[in-house]
Amino acid sequence: VNYAPNFGRPPRLDRDAARICKDAARICKDAERIPDPVERLRYLRSAAVASRARRGAMTLAWLAVPLLIGIVPFRVHSRPAPVPAPPVPSGGRTPLDSTPSEPPKVWRVESTESAELYSNGLRIDLTFAAPNHPRPTFSVYSLANASQIVGEASQPLGIVYHTSESDLAPFEERSNRQLKRIGRGLLELVRQEHCYHYVIDRFGRVFRVVPETDVAFHAGYSVWADNQGVYVNLNDSFLAVSFEGQTGALEEVAPAQISSARALTEMLRSRYGISAANCVTHAQVSVNPDNLRIGSHTDWAGKFPFREIGLPDNYQATAASVSYFGFLYDSVFLHATGGAWKTALDRAEDQLRRRAEAEGIGTARYRAALQRRYKQVLATLKERTVAARASHEQGATP
Ligand SMILES: [Zn+2]
Repeated sequence: VNYAPNFGRPPRLDRDAARICKDAARICKDAERIPDPVERLRYLRSAAVASRARRGAMTLAWLAVPLLIGIVPFRVHSRPAPVPAPPVPSGGRTPLDSTPSEPPKVWRVESTESAELYSNGLRIDLTFAAPNHPRPTFSVYSLANASQIVGEASQPLGIVYHTSESDLAPFEERSNRQLKRIGRGLLELVRQEHCYHYVIDRFGRVFRVVPETDVAFHAGYSVWADNQGVYVNLNDSFLAVSFEGQTGALEEVAPAQISSARALTEMLRSRYGISAANCVTHAQVSVNPDNLRIGSHTDWAGKFPFREIGLPDNYQATAASVSYFGFLYDSVFLHATGGAWKTALDRAEDQLRRRAEAEGIGTARYRAALQRRYKQVLATLKERTVAARASHEQGATP
């Protein structure tokens, strides 16, 4: 649990947890004196039952007891619990592994002006929070012809993960002052520019900067798709989570940042019903409309810890910009992915080729037609932005 500065007294939940841990530690110490593992387990169970009766619902902390004393000897004697069949991933176009796609239910436990606490241990610091303009409704485009609108939506449909590309001080104790100064500078910049909804700093602290109800300017020209439709320019439709870090130094991303990203992802997926397939990296969605190539931004082009964050390896997902809009990619981008996205890109190319064959035209012509669709969508979106700006200015005129 990360305590935000000025958060004040630990909440009641933490005080209860501390009491239970103390209690558990005492029982573990007693248990260590029992040489026979079966006897030891029996003692622990009865102690847990007694304590549960005393305290009511706080049973989860007992899960920590076997860990504290080292459960290894019991494994020899006890049969492993049956492993439940993995659920079928929902919403993914290419469900390729068995990582559970349903996040646990996560709820807000308490909230103050400066922080929020969630049931999975997530703590969100609000000291840099600043509103931007509210999220507008956005268009969902057809999977059959991505220049056609099939619907409108207004709730966040996915998460885009970024790295902040900001300066990094050596992650060591004597750099504390520098680490804090740089982190604060980053948060001030993100607040000023409305870059991301969330920033996870070097110590794993989670800061909400742009409210989830508002737009963050994080994804620019971008494309993604799920089994409902295709999404273009994801600022309106996807939430932004940025790791304080650099593409060239991903080994510097701390385990604390990854575990916070997991808790944050669980909360956001639980709150908005976001499918695992829509939790992707900036490099996967970023496109350049001028040269029609993907990977205009290369943050998390490879090495994103999907599994550690509780997600399937979405580098295996089909590249939506290639399949639906005929985008190209070059060897520089492939190199940046470290091969992570190669299979998916090859598959997207293959799909494109097969569809061109089905249409009875060459791949180049088919690709050009898809690219025209993208340009059509972009033109419509630009018109819309201009119209929205005009009506905003009209409304602002006294
Ligand atoms: Zn980015």
